[in-house]
Amino acid sequence: MKEHGTNIRPGEVLLSAEEIAGIVARLGAEISKDYEGRHPILVNLLKGGVVFLADLIRQITIAHHIEFMKVSSYKSGTESTGDVRIIDDLSVSIEDKDVLIVEDVIDTGMTLAYILEMLQLRRPRSIEICTLLRKETAAAKGPSIRYVGSHIPDVFVVGYGLDYDENFRHLPHIAKLEI
Ligand code: IMP
Ligand code: MG
Repeated sequence: MKEHGTNIRPGEVLLSAEEIAGIVARLGAEISKDYEGRHPILVNLLKGGVVFLADLIRQITIAHHIEFMKVSSYKSGTESTGDVRIIDDLSVSIEDKDVLIVEDVIDTGMTLAYILEMLQLRRPRSIEICTLLRKETAAAKGPSIRYVGSHIPDVFVVGYGLDYDENFRHLPHIAKLEI
């Protein structure tokens, strides 16, 4: 497409806005039940997870806080580099807190493994992961994930916060990227 200077564009819809809403409502209900009385800190990974977080917290009925962390795992494009960097850290201590990491998608799991290891050193009371999407490869060999919205094939997806080189985050659905 002209506006992106290439032919790269969103194609087949994997999850519609309605399907995503149903998934988020289910996750919100589960989290509300499991964390009742525990006042968890939801740690959101910027920027991809921000649309998911915004919808998720409106489906959570118990007291909680939100925090943000910005990490970078891809320089650009669709290839994982394994080069994880913390761009912005949490603004509070998580010692003795129940932490729930809210992630958009788990692909290789490298980003998450790195973040988990680092946050464990801060001695939270508990630490769990909630991801909207989990790719098949990660599901086969990755760490155990408490909350998974939907399993998807090993394809690059955009929309609902997920980007390709900062494009397509605004789409209300999740689509396969056509290259
Ligand atoms: P991992 O370290 O390979 O698990 O990659 C995790 C991060 O890469 C996610 O937090 C996303 O920001 C990004 N990522 C992985 N797969 C996709 C995708 O299909 N679309 C957009 N971003 C992705
Ligand atoms: Mg991301």
